This record gives sequence, structure tokens and C-alpha cells, in this order.
Amino acid sequence: MRSHAEFRWSYWRYCGRQTSRILAIFSVGAVTFLGIWLIVGLVNPMENPTVRSEAAMTFAIIVVLAAVGLTMRHAAREARLDPGLVCPWCDRPLGYLYGIIVLSSGNCPHCGERVLEE
Ligand SMILES: [Zn+2]
Repeated sequence: MRSHAEFRWSYWRYCGRQTSRILAIFSVGAVTFLGIWLIVGLVNPMENPTVRSEAAMTFAIIVVLAAVGLTMRHAAREARLDPGLVCPWCDRPLGYLYGIIVLSSGNCPHCGERVLEE
């Protein structure tokens, strides 16, 4: 069984990875927006600036949604990589928001079994 400190460390690392993932997605969206906006400006300098911004924004949103879809699948798999973030009794994940329940109660939110030492 794991101690509170070990679980807290695993959970914070997990939260850090999720936060950097969100920041990376926003960066990808911003870079896509700027890139499309500049390319449209170079290719067609007479283009209406509103149309140019809307086109760049539409493209950036599509790229961000695709990135979110890909990382969500990856995040579900990654949550199981750290054995400390999987319940030893029912094998369900203890990451996501479940980690807060585990830290406050010491029990698995799925099966109710004790997962942290007293
Ligand atoms: Zn469990």
C-alpha cells in the first residue's frame, strides 16, 4: 500500500503533465492562427482583414479540436502508466479528479477499498 506522500507526488506529477498538455494545445492553436493569418496576408494582401482573421481562427479551432481529441485518448492510456494511480483492488484509474477524493479519504472512489496507508 502507498503512503499519502507517495500518492500526492504521483498525482501532482500527473496534474503537471495535464497542465503542460493544455498549454501545449493552446500554443499550437496560437501558432496555427498566426501562421495562417500571415500566409493569407502574403498570398493575398488585398484580402479583407476580417475574413483573413476568421479563416485563420476557423483553421486554428479545427487544429485545437484535433489535438484535444488525440491527447484525450493519450491521457487515458497515460493515466495507467503510473502504477500508483491505479487502484490495486479494482484496477480502475485514480487520476483525473478522483485523485482529490483519494487524497482526502484514502479510499478508492470506485470500490471504496483503502488504497493509502493511515
Ligand atoms: Zn478500487
